[in-house]
Amino acid sequence: MTPANFDFHCHSVVSDGLLPPHEVARRAAANGVDLWALTDHDDIGGLDEARAVAEEVGMGYVTGVEISIEWKGVPIHIVGLGFDDKDPALRGGLDELRIGRLERARRMGDALAAIGIPGAYEGALCFATNPSLISRAHFARYLVSIGIARDVSSVFQHYLTPGKPGYVDHRWATLEEAIGWITAAGGVPVVAHPGRYKMSGAEMRHFLDDFKELGGQGVEVTCGSHSPDHVMHFARLARHYAFHASRGSDFHGPVESYVDLGKLPQLPEDLKPIWRMIL
Ligand code: AMP
Ligand code: MN
Ligand code: MN
Ligand code: MN
Repeated sequence: MTPANFDFHCHSVVSDGLLPPHEVARRAAANGVDLWALTDHDDIGGLDEARAVAEEVGMGYVTGVEISIEWKGVPIHIVGLGFDDKDPALRGGLDELRIGRLERARRMGDALAAIGIPGAYEGALCFATNPSLISRAHFARYLVSIGIARDVSSVFQHYLTPGKPGYVDHRWATLEEAIGWITAAGGVPVVAHPGRYKMSGAEMRHFLDDFKELGGQGVEVTCGSHSPDHVMHFARLARHYAFHASRGSDFHGPVESYVDLGKLPQLPEDLKPIWRMIL
């Protein structure tokens, strides 16, 4: 199979997306996606449903997850693709990450209470379909619902980003752990939306050196949060490092996303698409 429209990055209510996995799958297919992965944050609980619907509608499917890590103090996301979703080490690692999220969420609730916004932890939980996966996005939706700000992005800007009162430091997985879990489960590690990280060019190259040395194999070149300049820049880095290139909308829901499923520009033609490592 040579896919014409693959989308390897999106979310369901199993993490901080707004639609259940079956609706994300149907929307991807309706938008013309022919090879698809659901990549919820730190949880693979939606994959059985995702696979079943993909099979039903005749859409190509690979397993996916977006793992939260920290590298030299910078929070980074690593997408894993095409792994064995029954692998116990991967599942155990994700279990630990979700436990850490709950503890972080309680501290976020305390930090917001300290500036006069009580009950945010409980409020955010009400917005989380999966109570074991609580994200800043759920806090943001709760804070909008009580009128703290007009939309999710202004909540992030004023409350939930580094230096702002609802932001707390957190220890995520390490780069080595995330790559180890994915590769031991037979999967392919990919750097998610590299254009989003607050890093200098030299830091990004240092990070990509480490990523490659530890077994990383791909970078998202075309993705929902990349400008045309980002696409050119990360295409160059993909060539330099001989990484395969991925393409993913990072769709979270009809209102909160930059781009819809399958509606991304194509990858630059000379790059090696990541699906070649999986199919
Ligand atoms: P967390 O993994 O809990 O720290 O939450 C990160 C998630 O919040 C991301 O995956 C996005 O879905 C969302 N997010 C992060 N920054 C923003 C922003 N500036 N505006 C809207 N959503 C954001
Ligand atoms: Mn998200
Ligand atoms: Mn991400
Ligand atoms: Mn994502």
